Amino acid sequence: MRLKDKVCIITGSGKGIGAAAAKKFAEEKAKVVAVCDIDTEAVEKTVKEIKEAGGEAIGFEVDVTDKDDIQDMVDCLMDKYGKVDVLVNNAGIIMDAQLHKMDEDRYDKVIDINLKGTYLCTKAVVDIMREQESGSIINTSSIVGIYGNFGQTNYAASKFGVVGMAKSWAKELGRKGIRANVVCPGFIATSILDDMPEKVIKSMEKKVSLGRLGEPEEIANVYAFLASDESSYITGAVIDVSGDTTL
Ligand code: NAP
Repeated sequence: MRLKDKVCIITGSGKGIGAAAAKKFAEEKAKVVAVCDIDTEAVEKTVKEIKEAGGEAIGFEVDVTDKDDIQDMVDCLMDKYGKVDVLVNNAGIIMDAQLHKMDEDRYDKVIDINLKGTYLCTKAVVDIMREQESGSIINTSSIVGIYGNFGQTNYAASKFGVVGMAKSWAKELGRKGIRANVVCPGFIATSILDDMPEKVIKSMEKKVSLGRLGEPEEIANVYAFLASDESSYITGAVIDVSGDTTL
């Protein structure tokens, strides 16, 4: 019952870590979980699974780069529930290439979704949270947002960026009762790794002290903690959830 009565938005929650988080938040008795994703079918599936398990969820087709999509979702939640307690900025993509092969299109796309999408979604709820003098914002970075990584100029820039934003928001919003934290997943078994050859996955596992990939639920558990009042004195924190991965 750690999220009892909380109205929670999780972006990119049709699949992967976001979907695991939406289910976890519903299990923790969130008043409602706004399941939003660019993939409509995935949204419908996650909402159906949550409802069948006895939780509360509403689905929204939201592209985090589209201000109107985001505003429509926030307006709908405000009409129905009159508040937004938690925002998890989880939607993200990778489009890897070494710098000498990385065109501007790949660079811009990753920055638009991972970095600007995080800004746009947070901007859409910040006045609501300031008014209610409470809220928890969780940005999803990566261990790549701590160490950088081969072939990930665009992704690293976006993931360092969301760390910087959360640290700034912690300072700006702390006295308004709003917390902002960052989760840095390591290698997590989701479709984001689908295109990785088996050989690469094995080499990834060798870099992890726990010797295995993480599960989406292991990130969802940390989101739930940061969303809940159990983390009431944690803000501006960057939490490595990677089984101790060295890149
Ligand atoms: P995932 O399985 O690909 O799920 C991400 C979801 O976000 C997908 O349903 C995707 O839809 C959706 N999405 C993409 N662009 C969007 C947009 N513009 N607006 C709204 N939704 C959008 O990825 P994941 O592995 O769960 O990753 C979740 C987050 O964790 C990301 O921020 C990622 O960078 C971060 N992370 C993941 C790992 C990992 O190893 N899995 C490691 C470190 C950090 P489509 O599938 O249709 O694109």
